[in-house]
Formats: sequence, C-alpha cells, structure tokens
Amino acid sequence: MPILVMKFGGTSVATLDRIRRAAKRVGREVANGYDVIVIVSAMAGETNKLVGFVEETSPLYDAREYDAVVSSGENVTAGLMALTLQEMDVPARSWQGWQVPLITTSAHAAARIEEIPTANILKKFEEGMKVAVIAGFQGISREGRITTLGRGGSDTSAVAFAAAFGAERCDIYTDVDGVYTTDPRITSKARKLDRIAFEEMLELASLGAKVLQTRSVELAMRYNVKLRVLSSFEEMSDEAGTLVCAEEDIVESNVVAGVAYSRDEAKLTLTQVADRPGIAAAIFGPLAEAGVNVDMIVQNISEGGTTDMTFSCPVNEVKRAEKAMADAKAAGLVDFGRLVADTDVCKVSIVGIGMRSHAGVAAKMFQTLRDEGINIKVITTSEIKVSVLVDRKYLELAVQALHDAFGLDRAA
Ligand code: ADP
Ligand code: ASP
Ligand code: MG
Repeated sequence: MPILVMKFGGTSVATLDRIRRAAKRVGREVANGYDVIVIVSAMAGETNKLVGFVEETSPLYDAREYDAVVSSGENVTAGLMALTLQEMDVPARSWQGWQVPLITTSAHAAARIEEIPTANILKKFEEGMKVAVIAGFQGISREGRITTLGRGGSDTSAVAFAAAFGAERCDIYTDVDGVYTTDPRITSKARKLDRIAFEEMLELASLGAKVLQTRSVELAMRYNVKLRVLSSFEEMSDEAGTLVCAEEDIVESNVVAGVAYSRDEAKLTLTQVADRPGIAAAIFGPLAEAGVNVDMIVQNISEGGTTDMTFSCPVNEVKRAEKAMADAKAAGLVDFGRLVADTDVCKVSIVGIGMRSHAGVAAKMFQTLRDEGINIKVITTSEIKVSVLVDRKYLELAVQALHDAFGLDRAA
C-alpha cells in the first residue's frame, strides 16, 4: 500500500470535535487506498501552557525536564486521535516518540532526529492496521531521555516520517489554506501561493513564518519529500494548498516572494568591550554554551581600544544571555562596561530568490521604512533575504508597507 503522511497542527486538534473532523479526513485517505501515518500536535495552547508552567517553576530550567513536561501535550492528542479512528472502525494505534523509537540527539528543546526505524510500524500495517498515529514534536535520546524538536517541531516529525517511509506525500494540515506572501493575520492583502521554492520557504521559516518549522523544510529539500500545506477546515481537493517544491518547478515568481517577521526579539549591546583578537570568541562562546541563539551581530567602530558589540537573540533568552555574560566577566574571560538590553524590538525580513539577479531590493526596503518613519536598528543580508530589527510597535506597519511596496498582493 502507498503511504501518506498527514500532520494536524494544534488548531486542527484543538477540541474533540476538531479531532473527529481530522479523523474523517484520515478515514477518507484510508478509503482511497493509503496506509496513513498521522502526526499530531498538542491541542492549541497546550504547549504554551506547559512552557509557562516550566518557566514559572524554574526560570533557568533544566532542559531535560522542560522536554519531559512540554512533550506531554502530544501524548494526549495521539491517544485521542487513535481512539477516534477506532470509533470510526478504522484500525489505528498510537505511538509516542520513544515507542517508535524516534532517536534524536540529546540537544534538549532543540533536538535533531537521527533515526526512525520503520520495521515495527510497517509490520503493523502488514497485519492490517491502517493508521499509525504518532505524537509529533518528541523523541528519545541515546541516553534514554525524552527530547523535543523545538517549537513547531511536529512539522519536522511529519517530514522525517515521510522521508523514512518513502511516503507519497506529506500533507501539513493547519489553520490557513497554504503558505501566503506574509502572515495573513497581519494583512488581509496577503496572497496564497500555489507553489513556493524550498529555498524561499526555508528562509521565510527561519525568519519567523511559523507555518512550517525550518528544519522540516530542510529535511523535505534534502530527501525530496513532496510537501503540501493546506487547511484542515476546508473541503479536500487535489489543487488545495501550497506545494513546497524545487525552484525549477516554479514558472513565474516575484522578486520578493514574501515578508516574514519575528515578534519577540531582543537587542543586546555590550559597551566598552576590549577590542583585541579573540574577543568575539570570548563573548559568543559562553553565550552558545548557555543555549542563547544569537542571530544578528554588529561590532562597532573601535575607539580608545574598546568597542561596542551588539547582537540579537529571542527575547526569552535575555536572562540566560545576561547571566552568561555576567559569569564570563566575573571569571575574567571578557571585559566590558555594561550590558544594555532592548527587549522591545522585532525582526522584519523580505525573502526572494529573485534578489540574486535584481539590484536595489534592499535600498527599496530601506526607503519604504523611511517613508513610514520607521528607524532601522540593525540590518543583515544574505543572497536571498534582507532583515532589519525595528521597534516592535512598528511590526504591523513595516510588514504591511513592505508587502505593498513589493506588490505582493499581485501575482508576477
Ligand atoms: P499549526 O498549529 O497548525 O502548526 P502554526 O500556528 O504553527 O499552525 O502555523 C500556522 C500559522 O502561521 C498561521 O495561522 C499564520 O498566522 C502563521 N503564518 C506566518 N506566516 C505565514 C505565511 N507566510 N503563510 C501562512 N501562514 C503564516
Ligand atoms: N506542540 C508543539 C508546539 O506548539 C509542536 C507543534 O505543534 O508543532 O510547538
Ligand atoms: Mg506549527
């Protein structure tokens, strides 16, 4: 039997009724002749609640226990989905990550999948089981501890299962009917894309478009998984949703494919850092060890032997960063004046493969923001994206203005 992977995100399993609706979709694919691997997220809001419990209990938590707690939301929906399917007379059972076992690295809260053995589940399919329901987002390390794959990680579970089982397709069911030119919650002018190139989706995801987790796009690209994003709330059709595919399979596209944002960023500046060889290593080494995900970095001009070093990271990692820097200073590893944290910033980015061959895209972005009176605090660029850090209060305005300026509401 051909295998299909169907992933249902949090809003698609938010209530028992929604689980029933999702199960009906699964049932229809079983009737179409597929063996189905269903990956489920936790019910909407559940993971946030669990993260909140952990942070309240222990602000600088042990990541192994964080994983033990936050992985549990998926256990509930996996069991409920299997039960719902059984009630519909569809032979189904659930698997938690460790039962598969989905083996990951031991990088807790951001683990990477190393291995998905298929024999156990394939045997059940041979015995007549029709649906394997897998708790997404979670796995087990070689040390035998429960791990999670980072927020949004069920997408990655889904693509990894599709690759491991050679699935015909990996369908990601969510609360929007595909990938849009920007988050449709920010502007009603956002336009659904029928197709998007892997590289563009990868950038959009890593710059904050949470419709797909970055790692899931990487895996789909590497293993050539046919990846589709579609709504679990609309009627099924073969044309529905957005296909994430190779660049060659896209006929025409805009220079800028989309605008992404990341709301909860922070900008940290270390003042009066001694400007000497090895200083960047002395700062960013301890930050990495403390699990701080540093994104943008700017080193200012050196005056009188000292410089300012600015970097950005997710706002919920500021405490860790402050502690890591205070400890490094106390240990004599790095000398600086003050650590100034600006926790009211966000990152807005434009992404498009067309930027490789078009000049002036960054300039147009900066002019657009200038015309709106938005001050840019930090800039970074790569071949197919430009990102800026701006005050959080300008997030919506910046995204809308850029979406208009690059004509994203119209097809190329
Ligand atoms: P799920 O719980 O199904 O995994 P997510 O909340 O993780 O859903 O992802 C879907 C959300 O991603 C949408 O509701 C939308 O607000 C947001 N989003 C951000 N950028 C985009 C985009 N470019 N296209 C579509 N959705 C986007
Ligand atoms: N429930 C997890 C989260 O909210 C994983 C997922 O939904 O993909 O991040
Ligand atoms: Mg998600």
